[in-house]
Formats: sequence, structure tokens, C-alpha cells
Amino acid sequence: MKYIVDIDYSKCINCLACYLINKNVFSIENNRIIIKNNIISSEEDIEDIKTAAKACPTNAIYYQEILDKD
Ligand code: SF4
Repeated sequence: MKYIVDIDYSKCINCLACYLINKNVFSIENNRIIIKNNIISSEEDIEDIKTAAKACPTNAIYYQEILDKD
């Protein structure tokens, strides 16, 4: 299972809630939250991005499962 995850920076208020939930996916660069790798395949990280999306106060985190074409 793979997911793609992204942040809408027009909504993000840089509160770091997502970073506190998972430091594998989310990181800080130049005082700004970033996503290290937009493609997530670890089940633990996938659960964490769902948790982070719910925790995000501005609904700035988007994710979607990538379906295999086979
Ligand atoms: S939780 Fe949402 S608003 Fe806060 S830093 Fe992460 S993406 Fe931005």
C-alpha cells in the first residue's frame, strides 16, 4: 500500500502538530514544515499521516492512496 501526501501551504499555519506526530514524514526546513518524501509506504507512517491530517487545525494535509494498475 502506498499513499501520496502533501501540504497546502496556503492553509498551513506552521503549528508543527503534524511534525510532533511523525518526524519521519514531516520535518522542518528554514523554519517551515516540509514533507520529506511525498510517497509513503510504511503502514505506521500512513496511520500517522491520517492522524496528522485530523489533528491539523487548518485541514492543510492531503493524502490519497496510490492504486496499483495491475
Ligand atoms: S498540522 Fe497543519 S497547520 Fe500545523 S504545521 Fe502541520 S500542516 Fe501546517
